[in-house]
Amino acid sequence: MTSLCPGCGLELPSDSTAPEGRHNSSPECWRLFGELSAYTLTHGDPGFIHQHAVDAWQLQHSLITKSNIGIAFSLIGLYLAIEKGQTGRQAQLAHMELGRVKRDWGRFEIPEQRASLTVRDVLEVPPGPGREAKLMEWAKAVWMSWSHAHGWTAEICKNLLSRE
Ligand SMILES: [Zn+2]
Repeated sequence: MTSLCPGCGLELPSDSTAPEGRHNSSPECWRLFGELSAYTLTHGDPGFIHQHAVDAWQLQHSLITKSNIGIAFSLIGLYLAIEKGQTGRQAQLAHMELGRVKRDWGRFEIPEQRASLTVRDVLEVPPGPGREAKLMEWAKAVWMSWSHAHGWTAEICKNLLSRE
């Protein structure tokens, strides 16, 4: 038996011990994200690479909601990381700045074509610089799959962030 993740499309062996999936994910995919988080949160990287993992995973598992703030924030985080070369810490600060004011984040469309990389590809690389490079490759693949929203994201960052 396998489970198919509704967000990223990852097919994994079903495992009844996996926690319930969240954010439009299969339980098994959510567990892999937990494993990656345990790694990114504890390996002492000063740039806080964990933020890129959160943004990539969240965007790859997004659902259209009323506020769409999750999609907006993930797009902004990945834009700053991929297009502007900012660290996860800087992206986190941008999220904090943007979170101070309540806004309507508008409408989005989930891409028809999924990114080819998933959280599993990152975990398949042994811990160390290689895994971090793969994480950034994954983040970039997710960002590229949302190319229809790139213009919106660049505009929002230009208009709303004091420094981008
Ligand atoms: Zn998934």
